[in-house]
Amino acid sequence: MDIEDKVNHLIKLLESSEYTIAFTGAGISAESGVPTFRGRGGLWEKFDPLKLATPEAFREDPRRVWEWYKWRMEVIAKAKPNPAHIVLAKLEEKGIVKAIITQNVDGLHQRAGSKNVIELHGNIWRARCTNCNYKTRLQEPPRKIPPKCPECNNPLRPDVVWFGEPLPRKAWEEALNEASKADLIIVVGTSGVVQPAAMIPVIVKYHGGKIVDINIEEDNYTNIADLFIKTKAGQVFKTLGEKLKLI
Ligand code: NAD
Ligand code: ZN
Repeated sequence: MDIEDKVNHLIKLLESSEYTIAFTGAGISAESGVPTFRGRGGLWEKFDPLKLATPEAFREDPRRVWEWYKWRMEVIAKAKPNPAHIVLAKLEEKGIVKAIITQNVDGLHQRAGSKNVIELHGNIWRARCTNCNYKTRLQEPPRKIPPKCPECNNPLRPDVVWFGEPLPRKAWEEALNEASKADLIIVVGTSGVVQPAAMIPVIVKYHGGKIVDINIEEDNYTNIADLFIKTKAGQVFKTLGEKLKLI
């Protein structure tokens, strides 16, 4: 089957679905220029995550961790939503997609116009105090690192979920609720190895729903997917958007 046939199959699944949701990972933003963690060209090839994305790493060297986040914020600030983000936002506008559950911290779904975005791993543009309840939104990468809390002068940390940390309770509950209602989930650009987020598509399947998996490589959902589209997300959604006259 070529991409046209696959997208036609996806349209059939969308037509027979009453409640479609999307589940996205770093791969959806790859074509926007934001590197993924795993997979070809992923950040894990060059960096050691255990030195950068854990509470221990931050305690040991907050500057090193902030340097890395600062660099990622600069990359993300320059990035623009690609057709995958844009067409998902249009599908939500049309009432076809009800929610987007994302593992990404880049905010590109919101910038594309999506409204019901559930961020399981936080957002890179938020920071919070390591000591008190202070939270803030950053307009740009911080100049002085680590930035200090204006209330208690302790270091602020990125408001993202690191390895070994629990997910934000409200986001996780909302995601579980969406997954239990969905009869179709479109999984885009995720390796499906980061738990517990990776369970979301499996929960949809468990409730009798279907999985569409879009990835340039096989991932953890490929074997249980009802439709696997081995193509770049941007290309799949561009084709879908054109066929549905959304773009
Ligand atoms: P991951 O890096 O583990 O996997 C990325 C997946 O995307 C891979 O399976 C890869 O084959 C696929 N992919 C790459 N380019 C693609 C494309 N053009 N189209 C379709 N698929 C493509 O990412 P993950 O599964 O999201 O999990 C890792 C963690 O990484 C998450 O917790 C997330 O917070 C974090 N992360 C976020 C960003 C971001 O916000 N943009 C970037 C890197 C990592
Ligand atoms: Zn504080």
